[in-house]
Amino acid sequence: MDNNILLTGIAASPGIVISRIFLIDHVVFEFSHVQLTTEAEICAEEKHLENAIAASKAQLEKTRKEISRKSSKEAQYIMDTHILILQDKQLKNNSLKRIRTERIDAAWALKNTMKELRKNILDLGDDYLKDRTSDMDYIEKRILRNLAGKKEKLLSNIGEQVVVIAHDLSPADTVNLNVSEVLGFVTECGGKTSHTAIMSRALKIPSVVGLKGITEKVENGTVIIVDGIHGIVILNPDAETLLKYKQKKEQHEEFERSLLQYKDVPAESTDGFGINLLANIEIVEEVSSVLDYGAEGIGLFRTEFLYLNKKELPKEKELFEIFKKAAQQVAPHPVTIRTLDIGGDKFISHVDIADEMNPAMGLRAIRFCLKETKIFKTQLRAILRASAYGKIKIMFPMISGITEVRMIKKLIKEVKTDLKKQNKPFDPKIKIGIMVEVPSAATIADLLAKEVDFFSIGTNDLIQYALAIDRVNEQVSYLYEPLHPSILRLLKNIVDAAHDNGITVALCGEMAGENIYLPVLLGLGVDEMSMNPVAILKVKKTLRSLSYKKCKHITNRLFDYSTVDEIKDFLKKETKKIFHA
Ligand code: PEP
Ligand code: MG
Repeated sequence: MDNNILLTGIAASPGIVISRIFLIDHVVFEFSHVQLTTEAEICAEEKHLENAIAASKAQLEKTRKEISRKSSKEAQYIMDTHILILQDKQLKNNSLKRIRTERIDAAWALKNTMKELRKNILDLGDDYLKDRTSDMDYIEKRILRNLAGKKEKLLSNIGEQVVVIAHDLSPADTVNLNVSEVLGFVTECGGKTSHTAIMSRALKIPSVVGLKGITEKVENGTVIIVDGIHGIVILNPDAETLLKYKQKKEQHEEFERSLLQYKDVPAESTDGFGINLLANIEIVEEVSSVLDYGAEGIGLFRTEFLYLNKKELPKEKELFEIFKKAAQQVAPHPVTIRTLDIGGDKFISHVDIADEMNPAMGLRAIRFCLKETKIFKTQLRAILRASAYGKIKIMFPMISGITEVRMIKKLIKEVKTDLKKQNKPFDPKIKIGIMVEVPSAATIADLLAKEVDFFSIGTNDLIQYALAIDRVNEQVSYLYEPLHPSILRLLKNIVDAAHDNGITVALCGEMAGENIYLPVLLGLGVDEMSMNPVAILKVKKTLRSLSYKKCKHITNRLFDYSTVDEIKDFLKKETKKIFHA
């Protein structure tokens, strides 16, 4: 391989790593459909399938044993579920039957059987079981891999420090990464705001996503530089490049250390306009360290990761303990807990598109919760109970209209009445807010503002839905543009509606953590920004160098322009002036 091959993707998680590549082949398992003609062929395919199922089972049992030694409970649950699915008699018997009666090859028979089994589960209408179909996808892949005679690579136990290169990693994969071994990762799929990218930031693993074709260009063991700040990777660097990047890495680490001086100073502009800077958290383990990053609380606690990779739904007590601990650890600062936002790109990376035609627009988030009120109420009870131990706010995702808010309020009232009857303490004045992330909500922000205590703008989804671009699809990520005139208008409408009605407005999409947007968000008058904790001090440093008055003036003028390029050019020119003023 030539030296210094530079490839550009999307910067997903900052930091620089230099290590060797651990490649996870993207095996699509393209089997050509074979129509069998002779009895000998049928017998051979039957045997082939039986062997592949047996091999899959042996592999899973081996992994299960290894995991139990390391005692990762979540991973054990997953393995148990997978073993159970694999042992399902229908899976084997129906596939064997297809081989014989339909005279088709083993892979074809297996795929058809899995499709049928998935459909049966979906027809049951049980949303919890529905989510388990992703486990069936894993099993199908595993058997197909064995049918193809390919070896698998385990991310939980690599045995050395590496940069993982993969076609795709699901949020579930990333949550199980062994962070002491996986120093960085690069994927072909995904965008900056895909939940996999968000997870990599939570785990503080430098990463580049959306790098099409990378898995075909690299080999195991090749040295790679991953620059998660600029979204580039360099393959097989020569001595000079290695030295340059070692220095860059040190500079970056030094820069991060230098930011610590901003930890205890106020987050305000030069003319005294304060913006509260809070942390987004994905995994519970992050809670204890958010204050060290200078966060003034948690502005977005994404609770869905408490439900991911579990054998059964978390119980009220478990959720209560987690929320209570978070409230206590962060007190006197607030913790804004967002209720379950499953669906979309969470749970499903190995998507069977036929089964999930439009997951982002499907039964996601509040839609799921208002249907599965038992699951929802359990979470509401846990949050309310925890509110007795600190400053908790509750926030609802994917609100599209007033009716949903009123339905939620009714449920909250019921839960409060029950808790009162049971003498369980809670904060009776708990603040209730919504994520404004669906264009319909953004346009009726004036009406919604009369119903709730606060807004938090979810730009990741707002941009996805307003500009009609799938946030996980790297093919359209070039259209993902926070400075689109339409987005600016929506943001202004939301902020003004909130302030006209006397409520606060936060912004918790990934946009909040990127300095280039700060003059605009400051100019719009956003009260609070919540972001990946690592970004807080960097944003605070910039905020302290900006004038609110000037930013407001510049932001107002952005509305005179009609294209993204014009807006960007103007903003660049003007911010250069104010940064040098
Ligand atoms: C958003 O949509 O901007 C947001 C913060 O929520 P999530 O990324 O979890 O969808
Ligand atoms: Mg969202």
